[in-house]
Amino acid sequence: MTFAQLGLIEPLLRTLERLDYRTPTPVQAAAIAPILKGRDLMAAAQTGTGKTAGFALPLLQRLTLEGPRVASNSVRALVLVPTRELAEQVHESFRTYGEGLPLRSYAVYGGVSLNPQMMALRKGVDVLVATPGRLLDLYQQNALGFAQLQALVLDEADRMLDLGFARELDELFAALPRRRQTLLFSATFSEPIRQMAGELLRDPALVEVSPRNAAAGNVRQWLVPVDKKRKAELFMHLLAAHGWPQVLVFARTRKGTDALVGELQQHGIASESIHGDKPQPARLRALERFKAGEVRVLVATDVAARGLDIEDLPGVVNLDLPVVAEDYVHRIGRTGRAGASGVAISLVAADEVEQLAAIEALIGKTLPREEEPGFEPDHRVPETALGGQVLKKPKKPKQKPVPGAGKGRVHLGSWFEEGEKPKVKAVRKMPSFGGKPKKG
Ligand code: AMP
Repeated sequence: MTFAQLGLIEPLLRTLERLDYRTPTPVQAAAIAPILKGRDLMAAAQTGTGKTAGFALPLLQRLTLEGPRVASNSVRALVLVPTRELAEQVHESFRTYGEGLPLRSYAVYGGVSLNPQMMALRKGVDVLVATPGRLLDLYQQNALGFAQLQALVLDEADRMLDLGFARELDELFAALPRRRQTLLFSATFSEPIRQMAGELLRDPALVEVSPRNAAAGNVRQWLVPVDKKRKAELFMHLLAAHGWPQVLVFARTRKGTDALVGELQQHGIASESIHGDKPQPARLRALERFKAGEVRVLVATDVAARGLDIEDLPGVVNLDLPVVAEDYVHRIGRTGRAGASGVAISLVAADEVEQLAAIEALIGKTLPREEEPGFEPDHRVPETALGGQVLKKPKKPKQKPVPGAGKGRVHLGSWFEEGEKPKVKAVRKMPSFGGKPKKG
């Protein structure tokens, strides 16, 4: 199967050749032809499968070949995404794939001022990538109308619902013309997603691509039981012990991400955090620095990291287990891609055992436990059994442990040989990041 066989036009084929995309990924092979024909589509595919090009290429082609020139304050194709980062990323993909085509694209999201976005929409845009809240604001302020709308894409629809965008989405759907093409992409087909699909899609083509995730045998997953208070310390120990050039760490809360970054920076390890409360430019800057190899450890919350094009990392560490079990699969999907081997380590405290059981039920296996000498927990993590059951409740400790009084406590300074402290600058650039299309 080639891109030409899928029916893409010359300018797009030339762009793909320049990007060195030789063959369509499975989601592209399945989605491009039906989208070109104008069909609705429901696809189970997550980041890393090539789904963005899967919808961007055929939409760019349709917008180029069909329909009127875009009028002022109008939009012809609307792509809704859950986060600002994903908005930037998807917009960048449209720009890359649409280079040389007579189309305008733009991205709008919250956390930055409204005015420049209103100005930019005046001329009208062929493709608008937007987060639901900001789009609704702009619509309510008459910065744009949907009379010319031909296509709607819901990207990471499940995540939009998880993030509580259901109300905004309903209001937006009500404002859109009924005659349009609708494409829905979601990592999971939960009941609310099926319901949304039932309401929005007409006779959709169905595409399901097996996610490169927990099932991937090349990611070695295990958990290290540890007391909550010693997680940061354990992470530093693992970082030194494994010598990862770069690692992505997931923490549950904003506070947790900032605390770990503070600790890392104190020890001279270049690190950055991304979370929902960080201003948008700072989040993008952190991500860019990580991709450029200037930052060794990127600490993220699920909300901020979902959908980010961060791939081929040697290691992912879960400082905390995610509250939503599916997020575990998304997190570890960042490593072990394209045949590379990766590790995914979860630092698990006794009070996370319910989350652990839910994750094990989802991935269909028990995560092996490997205690780290010197970090054996005082609060034991109860055994789990497949099926999401916790066998034993965590035991209450008899007496409050004294911080730092754990057996065999290792001091941070002793993890590195003298004169061998982790280097801040000399971080290997990850070649994998070259995979993302560059601006032409
Ligand atoms: P996505 O799942 O859309 O986030 O895409 C994941 C990555 O795969 C991006 O960095 C794309 O540039 C890249 N990509 C998408 N399609 C192809 C292809 N057919 N061949 C090679 N790389 C691709």
